[in-house]
Amino acid sequence: MTSAKDQATTATTDSGIPVESTEYSVTLGQDGPLLLQDHYLIEQMANFNRERIPERQPHAKGSGAFGRFEVTQDVSRYTKAAVFQPGATTETAVRFSTVAGERGSPDTWRDPRGFSVKFYTDEGIFDLVGNNTPVFFMRDPMKFQHFIRSQKRRADSGLRDNDMQWDFWTLSPESKHQVTWLMGDRGIPKTWRHMNGYSSHTYMWINAQGEECWVKYHWKTDQGIDFLTQEDADRLAGEDADYHRRDLFEAIQRGEYPSWTLHVQIMPFEDAKTYRFNPFDLTKVWPHGDYPLQEVGRMTLDTNPVDYHTQIEQLAFEPNAYPSGLGLSPDKMLLARGFSYADAHRARLGVNYKEIPVNAPKSPVHNYTFAGKGRITNKPDPVYAPNSKGAPWVGADATRQPPTWYADGDIQRAAYTPHPEDSDEGQARTMMLEVWNDEQRDRFVNNVSGHLAAGVGEDVLERAFEYWRSIDQTMGERVEAKVRELKGQEQKVLSQS
Ligand code: NDP
Repeated sequence: MTSAKDQATTATTDSGIPVESTEYSVTLGQDGPLLLQDHYLIEQMANFNRERIPERQPHAKGSGAFGRFEVTQDVSRYTKAAVFQPGATTETAVRFSTVAGERGSPDTWRDPRGFSVKFYTDEGIFDLVGNNTPVFFMRDPMKFQHFIRSQKRRADSGLRDNDMQWDFWTLSPESKHQVTWLMGDRGIPKTWRHMNGYSSHTYMWINAQGEECWVKYHWKTDQGIDFLTQEDADRLAGEDADYHRRDLFEAIQRGEYPSWTLHVQIMPFEDAKTYRFNPFDLTKVWPHGDYPLQEVGRMTLDTNPVDYHTQIEQLAFEPNAYPSGLGLSPDKMLLARGFSYADAHRARLGVNYKEIPVNAPKSPVHNYTFAGKGRITNKPDPVYAPNSKGAPWVGADATRQPPTWYADGDIQRAAYTPHPEDSDEGQARTMMLEVWNDEQRDRFVNNVSGHLAAGVGEDVLERAFEYWRSIDQTMGERVEAKVRELKGQEQKVLSQS
């Protein structure tokens, strides 16, 4: 009988040289000291010490899979992008994640989930870098770094701190819609397969005639929306910190391929100026009644990674990757993300991160990025443009103008110009009172109260009760009563102990 050892291919060093043993290091005498010339041992130890790369700042914990996106409806009158033309099928890579936790943190903490899709289109990479919520906590990127710090860990104890989270939220009234969403059922999805994805931001589409319109993307889960109660999520956080990662991997392994149907809301270009809500404010949705969902296609995930590190940990998305027919919008958060995502990848993965196979376009690349750490493809001369040596360059070409919109005004630091129905409370109130049923409202009160009763100081608590009363007086009062009840119980337990 041949053993597993006999069947195995001979191991080599990184230089491809067969190794003498994967079991024994070189010593002076059978029991003697180790020798420095044992190159293979040293290579093993040195590589091991360098296996970890820095984790992502937000969205550190996640996983993903691969599949394809198929167009099912004709939206070619709105966009000329190849990825959305009738009959097109495009390979995709997807990463789901939590936001605040570290790389090993539990999947079932209450948090928004990242929902990022990379399309390997014939015209280059298209990254749709979204979340499982249609809105966000703020509308100006100046506050983003502060927001993330407030959700992560304290400087002194290294602990997460509900007081810090609520301190920031209650001083940032624009967070009300997103925090309402977060404290509702959808704040902890049952699995990644059971949640929607949203672009959240408004983007631009441009058709073959050069006409522009505004779009919001919605990935609707074909598995149905489902959630975890706070109690189940807390239990799972202890039992299986990788619950969502495991679920996706094992579902695909079983051949149960999850899918999402992509819809868009389309707003005519001119509507944006007078729409009742600022359509570029990331804390607002466009009510479906104003701009109904239109189906575009379906994405199916059927392939697991074979190497988590190279395919998922090094998978890098950036909102500025969009081929012709697609564009950004004057959403300040989106424009800031356009810079910060690529910059984060340069810091974390190195300047040549787009040469990592999972990030590389499957269409031809004729760029002038040159040298730098980790460069692997050859860049023959000439390394400049314009040139007379036959290498690509593009002169002034009216057909290749960037997507655009008109703006003017003095250079300033200011809030958005208000639209007639803009308010921090209105859409949160609509969800709370008109979308949710009684059971959902009850669970919301329990979720918020449990969070507030756990370590939030009295001054922040008072602001938090007012935060909720400003959305709905009754709901605010219910939250306050429940927090007082929970804290009373805590007081009793403490005095008995
Ligand atoms: P609609 O009644 O047409 O849509 C309400 C939407 O709310 C549903 O389609 C669903 O979005 C979403 N929803 C349902 N249950 C929950 C829940 N428990 N937690 C979070 N979202 C839920 O009304 P409008 O479009 O006028 O929106 C009303 C309110 O609904 C908004 O103010 C906003 O707070 C919330 N909402 C709106 C969305 C939008 O894009 N218009 C998207 C999500 C929430 P879905 O179909 O995406 O599952």
